[in-house]
Amino acid sequence: MIAKKALGLPLKGLRFAIKSGDTLIKTASTQVTRFKTRFDENKAKNSLDEMPVAKRNYASVSEQTELSTNADSIDMREFEFTKAPINWIPATILVATPIAAAIITPWYLFTHQVSAPVWGVFGAFMVWTGISITAGYHRLLSHRAYKAHPIVKNFLLLGSTFAVQGSAFDWVSGHRTHHRHVDDRLEDPYSAKRGFFFSHMGWMLRNYPSGKFDYKNIPDLTKDRTLQIQHKYYGLWVAALNVGAVAAIGWLLGDVWGTLVIVGLLRLVLTHHFTFFINSLCHMFGSRPYTDTNTARDNFFLAIFTWGEGYHNYHHFFQYDYRNGVKWWQYDPTKWLIAGLSKLGLTSELRTVDDTTIKHAEVQMQFKAAQQQIDTATSSGIDIPHAMKSFQDRIKFEYDAFTQTVEEWQALKAKTIELKKTEFADRLHEVEDELKNDYAKIEEKILAHNSNLKTAFRSIDKSAKAA
Ligand SMILES: [Zn+2]
Ligand SMILES: [Zn+2]
Repeated sequence: MIAKKALGLPLKGLRFAIKSGDTLIKTASTQVTRFKTRFDENKAKNSLDEMPVAKRNYASVSEQTELSTNADSIDMREFEFTKAPINWIPATILVATPIAAAIITPWYLFTHQVSAPVWGVFGAFMVWTGISITAGYHRLLSHRAYKAHPIVKNFLLLGSTFAVQGSAFDWVSGHRTHHRHVDDRLEDPYSAKRGFFFSHMGWMLRNYPSGKFDYKNIPDLTKDRTLQIQHKYYGLWVAALNVGAVAAIGWLLGDVWGTLVIVGLLRLVLTHHFTFFINSLCHMFGSRPYTDTNTARDNFFLAIFTWGEGYHNYHHFFQYDYRNGVKWWQYDPTKWLIAGLSKLGLTSELRTVDDTTIKHAEVQMQFKAAQQQIDTATSSGIDIPHAMKSFQDRIKFEYDAFTQTVEEWQALKAKTIELKKTEFADRLHEVEDELKNDYAKIEEKILAHNSNLKTAFRSIDKSAKAA
């Protein structure tokens, strides 16, 4: 007991600092995420850069009081969810196509020969329609993570329409709401807090209150003529592509029915559910290296099915980055496609988060993990092993140093802003090298914190194994 007390006290500061770091991030993000009824370019841009707000999970005391007074209205809104009417057209498509695919595909393959060209088109269309959603609807239109030449934009738009996931207006509006209200049971259209089935596809089967989009969050899209046409004639486009175009390709390949079953039906169902995994499984299984303020996870295995979008924890924290798998070795074919097209001049202004900011988020999470490990060890109340005590000292020491690095970094950022504003602005290039040097030093320090923490974790793991 005495040992626990002795260990607990010095860490109070650290624990508070980590918590207050959260509060700071939360307050800042709340401030930047206030949506207004009317939009201008700046507001739309802010909404694209915003951090997720998980206010109901991380409510402060005052917010909790406010929540309890709103309990009645929340109950009413929960009641609306139970009474939501069926969304007939999407529900029919989403229920009928997987059942039809599960019955017809094996029967067809068993009784017919499907030629290699049909399989080839199936593979090509799997890639095209899948990547059109991730590179087109998602990273280009929802997050404005890069700019695309009209050829690329329209090619991705056609592929996204082929994928039958709603018009760009609906998809993007819903997705921006998902980021803004992630995990909120009442506001997030595919809240993972409502369970696997709801977040996977249940949210589309009924007209839930959270699924009603009013397009106020897509002012950048509603003025786009091509997207207006896609939205207005969406049903026609979908039928023309999924039935008309597929049958025509089948006719060219000399196998209309085989193409309709494999390229039409099977491809559609697989593409649907691979995308749906991002909203369901990517909010359930995997690691959280960048933030634990929402349920989004990084998962290599899911990245394979989702064309790189399995690194969803990173994406929810740094949503405007054109990469989801941010490390060079992470499997993210959507990122490779966008970067590859930029070499050809077909995409441009690829937006990225700088390495120091990314590492900073990782180090914050390492400190949290260390704190949890210390809390678990000290909560038992029995004597704390010597290795754990020294681990705790190391973490405390490292945290103090880290706080200092962050302070230096903030001061440097403030200095840069000041320089840009003042009379130095036109002579900024003269001090640029110096600033670059200072930023590089901060990055080095943060990398050192990262590796020191890794070493500390390794040593405690080793002593745990030895015990
Ligand atoms: Zn998500
Ligand atoms: Zn997103």
